[in-house]
Amino acid sequence: MKYFICGLLVGLILPVLILGAHKTQVKGFFIPYVNLCWCDERSVCIHEIGHYIDYSKQGISGTLKFIEAIVALRDDINGRVYFHIGYTIDDLRIWQIIGENENNMKEVYAEIYQYFDGCVPCMPKILQEFYIK
Ligand SMILES: [Zn+2]
Repeated sequence: MKYFICGLLVGLILPVLILGAHKTQVKGFFIPYVNLCWCDERSVCIHEIGHYIDYSKQGISGTLKFIEAIVALRDDINGRVYFHIGYTIDDLRIWQIIGENENNMKEVYAEIYQYFDGCVPCMPKILQEFYIK
């Protein structure tokens, strides 16, 4: 019974933490403990699936290796931050996220998956290994 309540609490608290990390109006969410995802438009669904992949990979977005890959893709040109692939970090809303809280790497992870429309081969090579299911 104790374990059930514990599991229930984890299942209820984690989604709140993830929802709390969203900057924009939430149109979807992913509940890790029960692997449940809800979304109301395609791009948001892809974002939430990104959270699922991250979770299924034991939170790979929080690893130093992933953070280093993101940093390796950054380049500072005249005060604006660009990805080497040509997209601005603003496009991915990553700049704000990284600037505010490095613990929000799970959002960066999901935003990237959303940005590339769930297409892992479309991503920069350095990122692909983090998304292969
Ligand atoms: Zn998210």
